[in-house]
Amino acid sequence: MSNSVMIIGGGVIGLSAAWELSQRGFLVTLIDKDTTGAGTSWAGAGILPPANLEHSCDPIDQLRGLSHSLFPRWAEKLRSETGIDPELKRCGGLYLAQSTGEIAAMSGMAEYWREMEIECTRLTKDDLLHHEPALATWWRSSAKAAVWHVPDEYQVRSPRYLRALSAACKKSGVAFVENAEVTDIRSLNGRAEIKCAGQWKSADSIVLTSGVWTGQIAASLHLDRSIVPIRGQMLLLKTAQPWVQNIINMGQRYILAREDGHTLIGSNEEESGFELGTTDTVMESLFDFAIDLLPDLKSADKVKAWSGLRPMTFDGFPMIGRVPEISNLYVAAGHHRSGIHLSPGTALLIADILCEKTPEIPVDAFQVRRQGHMEASQTHTNP
Ligand SMILES: Cc1cc2nc3c(=O)[nH]c(=O)nc-3n(C[C@H](O)[C@H](O)[C@H](O)COP(=O)(O)OP(=O)(O)OC[C@H]3O[C@@H](n4cnc5c(N)ncnc54)[C@H](O)[C@@H]3O)c2cc1C
Repeated sequence: MSNSVMIIGGGVIGLSAAWELSQRGFLVTLIDKDTTGAGTSWAGAGILPPANLEHSCDPIDQLRGLSHSLFPRWAEKLRSETGIDPELKRCGGLYLAQSTGEIAAMSGMAEYWREMEIECTRLTKDDLLHHEPALATWWRSSAKAAVWHVPDEYQVRSPRYLRALSAACKKSGVAFVENAEVTDIRSLNGRAEIKCAGQWKSADSIVLTSGVWTGQIAASLHLDRSIVPIRGQMLLLKTAQPWVQNIINMGQRYILAREDGHTLIGSNEEESGFELGTTDTVMESLFDFAIDLLPDLKSADKVKAWSGLRPMTFDGFPMIGRVPEISNLYVAAGHHRSGIHLSPGTALLIADILCEKTPEIPVDAFQVRRQGHMEASQTHTNP
């Protein structure tokens, strides 16, 4: 078994992998071009939708199910080892629809969940008023309102989760190298070396957990077209008390309140390359969305707005595994809208792969694929 590991990227995936590997006896160095935990992961809402490992067949549902089953113990261990509470809460989720198309789409989703034996109930008006009285005005004003309740939905407070992971890593001996960009990777006799601060370095294993930037590090890996940045914007409001208890989901958008009244309104999807930033148009549409559902939020303080770049892959699956033809180079990246949720499961899988242990779930669908290479070979065989 290899012993030294360099992890390139200290977002939720790199920190989780570093924590898991250090607990398994690896000597871990975590390298980040900025400070750890300041990338996309910080921007995430921390919604953990329901999942069930036992009854899932699709690879992404299996990874979600594995992570979902691990999260409560994982978060409690972080809290007890570091004293930092990631505020994991089984708050439940409400899924709202208000047009024929939305109702049809949600009915399909509810059926899919039921097939996986995930509890999901369509609510009557009285049920809704019991679960979330603040939605009464919206229900009354929507001619076609329909709502499903999913009790097994959690929220975790992303910045606190990241701080807890970082503290746990330090406690278990992970060496942090921050403000150090990896600018190239080369392969010598099938083994990888990274270039960092002008020097070539290597380790028994190197794991790329660099989120949307994973494909940018070395052109020779041909990963640049396999991971696409999808920007998402977020608006943070503050009220004296939390207005809602459940996570309120409607299409891609949601409202989620923390215990202290901080209320997140998210989000959208846009291709803006690697450019971060918020726009007035999206902020207005998020605010309008929120007050349509909860008119009392009109008087809430607008605290902050931000954006993050979700790492979307071309086939919808994260890459978790070894880079073909390079014996000591691995990737764990491309978790798109679910990196926070999938972090404990991904950490376990990458650690199992490095330990040469059979992973808890099949990982074939997550193999490191290089779209540039695939397209090139298709062009070659199909002129
Ligand atoms: C608005 C928004 C809402 C979201 N909500 C949720 C949610 O509710 N639930 C959920 O599960 N997911 C959510 N996500 C998705 C989730 O945040 C991402 O999937 C996840 O953060 C990806 O984590 P990562 O560790 O791969 O990347 P990152 O957090 O981006 O970490 C990558 C790290 O690598 C470092 N790095 C990059 N290049 C280099 C280099 N060359 N050398 C050294 N270091 C490097 C970066 O500095 C960074 O720290 C959301 C995302 C956004 C934008």
